[in-house]
Amino acid sequence: RQKIVIIGASHAGCNAAFQLKQHIPGIEVTLLSDESCLPYHRPPLSKALVKGEVQAEQIQLKSPSAFDEAGIELRLNYSVKEIDRKHRLINGELNYDKLILATGGAPRPVRIPGLESDKLVYLRDMSDTLALQKRLENTQHITLVGGGYIGLELAASLIQMGKKVTLVEAASRILNRVTAAEVSDFFQTYHQRRGVHFLIGQQIEQATLLQDGRASLRSSDGECFITDLVVAGIGMLPNTYLASKAKLETDNGVLVNQYGQTSDHNIYAIGDCASYPHPDHPGLRIESVQSAVEQARITAAHITQQDFKPHDLPWFWTDQYDLKMKMAGINTGHDATVLRGSVSDGQFSCFYLRNGVVIAADCVNQPGEFMASKRLIAQGGRVPAEMLSNSSISMKEIIT
Ligand code: FAD
Repeated sequence: RQKIVIIGASHAGCNAAFQLKQHIPGIEVTLLSDESCLPYHRPPLSKALVKGEVQAEQIQLKSPSAFDEAGIELRLNYSVKEIDRKHRLINGELNYDKLILATGGAPRPVRIPGLESDKLVYLRDMSDTLALQKRLENTQHITLVGGGYIGLELAASLIQMGKKVTLVEAASRILNRVTAAEVSDFFQTYHQRRGVHFLIGQQIEQATLLQDGRASLRSSDGECFITDLVVAGIGMLPNTYLASKAKLETDNGVLVNQYGQTSDHNIYAIGDCASYPHPDHPGLRIESVQSAVEQARITAAHITQQDFKPHDLPWFWTDQYDLKMKMAGINTGHDATVLRGSVSDGQFSCFYLRNGVVIAADCVNQPGEFMASKRLIAQGGRVPAEMLSNSSISMKEIIT
């Protein structure tokens, strides 16, 4: 009986476990998590969960009995410290035939001089969110460091909870790494109208803890303000420590082939911790639920020697206030952008083109256009910009 051990029981690890069992019911699967709660959906942490709209039990990935029913051994509070590749042994006690690393990542640390205290927190897992929720009970003003998706989602949630929010972004605009300037501007204006105060192109240079328990912050432009709490969200670092220690190849993630195999063919890596060889974007490491699920599907099929479809087009979503933006494809390397729809009405898409071919799209409150964009990108043909920007020409006509 083949024995598979999976380290990390989140979107990637959990999906891989269930897929393996589906392919070969007799296969032995052990799923290890260093968290104390049952596996859960991570996206609601910065949205519905922090706002208290759902309880922790409502965002579980699987029902508590599902693991037993599927014959998966789930071990919570189990932290893997060491992989012995020679003896195929975990922590000196657990054997494997195949090992899957699904260890995700950890928040990129921020250093704010004077704020080496519990006034600076991060949001990555369930315990962070529950702790933050408690802190928010006695908190009026929150400073968010980082204008990426997590920072902005949290800003929206906090405003909806009646809090005051200052968001500090070091780059020249929010969502700098991931969207076009038009999309960044739209989101910044949307947040500003709801009360978020932005400090763009700035950093927190100095903090002073006050006697009343709050902190006084000074930005690089000299703006001083008082805050109750600082939450940092400036991206994450893949958890590659175990892989590096086991001398697997790593470079911004654990390096894998198209099946998720690392430099040791008995060890796979999937999800946020893996850097895989996308044909157009070598060394791609995507941080999204869809990508974690896709990689789990392919790796589970490869281990059990099943046929499988290649990677689906990557996509991602973010929810802020009443805005739902869905993004398809990877926009790295685009040389033009085309807007379609009404930015002022908050219903538009931004298409990213390379040599006249649509490679990615950000669709704001446009679910139909998002679905059509996925087909358009997969199709890969050239589309004239005038046609794409003209909303009176339907996406159906553009695709065919
Ligand atoms: P993770 O979810 O990070 O899970 C890794 C697991 O491995 C963790 O439970 C960790 O504790 C465990 N682990 C690590 N090391 C060890 C060890 N040594 N021993 C045992 N266990 C270990 N994506 C979207 O597509 N849409 C969204 O709206 C969205 N919102 C998000 C909001 C927040 C607040 C966060 C943090 C992420 C969000 N994401 C979103 C990203 C998405 O959640 C991740 O891409 C996804 O969780 C990746 O899954 P994963 O299984 O690869 O890693």
